[in-house]
Amino acid sequence: MSMPDAMPLPGVGEELKQAKEIEDAEKYSFMATVTKAPKKQIQFADDMQEFTKFPTKTGRRSLSRSISQSSTDSYSSAASYTDSSDDEVSPREKQQTNSKGSSNFCVKNIKQAEFGRREIEIAEQDMSALISLRKRAQGEKPLAGAKIVGCTHITAQTAVLIETLCALGAHCRWSACNIYSTQNEVAAALAEAGVAVFAWKGESEDDFWWCIDRCVNMDGWQANMILDDGGDLTHWVYKKYPNVFKKIRGIVEESVTGVHRLYQLSKAGKLCVPAMNVNDSVTKQKFDNLYCCRESILDGLKRTTDVMFGGKQVVVCGYGEVGKGCCAALKALGAIVYITEIDPICALQACMDGFRVVKLNEVIRQVDVVITCTGNKNVVTREHLDRMKNSCIVCNMGHSNTEIDVTSLRTPELTWERVRSQVDHVIWPDGKRVVLLAEGRLLNLSCSTVPTFVLSITATTQALALIELYNAPEGRYKQDVYLLPKKMDEYVASLHLPSFDAHLTELTDDQAKYLGLNKNGPFKPNYYRY
Ligand code: NAD
Repeated sequence: MSMPDAMPLPGVGEELKQAKEIEDAEKYSFMATVTKAPKKQIQFADDMQEFTKFPTKTGRRSLSRSISQSSTDSYSSAASYTDSSDDEVSPREKQQTNSKGSSNFCVKNIKQAEFGRREIEIAEQDMSALISLRKRAQGEKPLAGAKIVGCTHITAQTAVLIETLCALGAHCRWSACNIYSTQNEVAAALAEAGVAVFAWKGESEDDFWWCIDRCVNMDGWQANMILDDGGDLTHWVYKKYPNVFKKIRGIVEESVTGVHRLYQLSKAGKLCVPAMNVNDSVTKQKFDNLYCCRESILDGLKRTTDVMFGGKQVVVCGYGEVGKGCCAALKALGAIVYITEIDPICALQACMDGFRVVKLNEVIRQVDVVITCTGNKNVVTREHLDRMKNSCIVCNMGHSNTEIDVTSLRTPELTWERVRSQVDHVIWPDGKRVVLLAEGRLLNLSCSTVPTFVLSITATTQALALIELYNAPEGRYKQDVYLLPKKMDEYVASLHLPSFDAHLTELTDDQAKYLGLNKNGPFKPNYYRY
């Protein structure tokens, strides 16, 4: 079976060039089945955390690898009914059983399961594509025999994913990829439903690794698939249980950080199983970066500051997918938007979209809001911060907290005042205040919610990647990192179209021949940019 050429991906580093995408849809057993099925068979259901440090328990063994950034970045996809202070006893000290007598889990409080079930049912309403996949593939059980060890945020939306995987035949053991983001009641509902879940909101660093370990290390059970978000689970298995990889058929990784680690392993010749890079699939990039940010930038700013945007002067640094999303939302509310860019193509796009492209220095004294979304570092420096006007709001939508030089603000002459959760006033000696949000971390993940519909797209992609890797015949995937086949991206999108009652046009035979396409897709070449 011939592998297609490596596909270069602009903007995500040299390593990503190794990624391979296989175009031939017929190679995908499950895909071939689902995409060939008559359409009428598709049934669609009609359908804040604090960044304050959580006290780490002392007296426990220290870990050789400290907790990763992704595991401490807050991610509040939904409000939790409970907080970590409702019970001082660590879940690790508690004896709990679910209503069927199983104690194969560790959650904050199993009695919250009913609340959690309601949260999951609410999430299901906006995740009809995943439910549809569940219904459609349930008879076939494409994950029968799969033993999936997972490490993701544990929220109502991921619960819908986990329960979908179970409905498709998988046996799952799950821990949280973030010590703050677990919705305790959702974890309880999963445990009540029989999922071996080890997670609670406000885990210590030691708890975090303990939970991962409990998922991997169990007598009589050995994982054969990994679903990771951030790479911590994969790292743990590499470090502690390398023999587990003898049985693992593949890793599906969701995050930028985790994908980067996988490419590093691959480059060093240490990746011993195939891995799917979900992060760079078209549907994830477009929806997570563009549409999700278009919605959540305003939500995050309004929740924290109550700011009104009409007539406000805003500078957005970076006009990539995230920047485009932010600018579209701000423009729609009547803000005057300036862009900074280093790339002439993105700068020209900004011009054509009606934005003024400037250097940050040119507008820094006059703007009311500064938003970074470059993925770069030191985009907003102390010099810029010194020159901002009183009450200027500064925030970051990029992946890491390096875009705004927050460290430079920790000097004796400046006073920090925490005025609200995630909102600091940094006060200059002359009384000027700069409003810093989420200490320069990702604004939307720290201060707002992520739309369930966007998470549905990611979760559907993850489920399909697991199905594909699990069912792939020997040799289809080598010990390398792969992008999802375009056919799968198209399938993920098509599963979401009925939510909008969107009606796709079908190619005629004649048209398909004219364009040189298969009537069932893929409809675009790999290099198509959407
Ligand atoms: P992108 O590469 O499409 O866009 C980044 C843009 O910033 C590029 O056009 C680049 O030319 C420009 N840039 C780089 N350095 C610059 C500088 N010094 N000044 C001005 N412009 C500069 O990336 P993207 O998809 O837009 O993602 C941007 C960041 O947001 C990444 O860190 C990504 O991980 C993160 N992200 C955030 C969310 C979220 O929910 N907040 C979602 C997805 C991605």
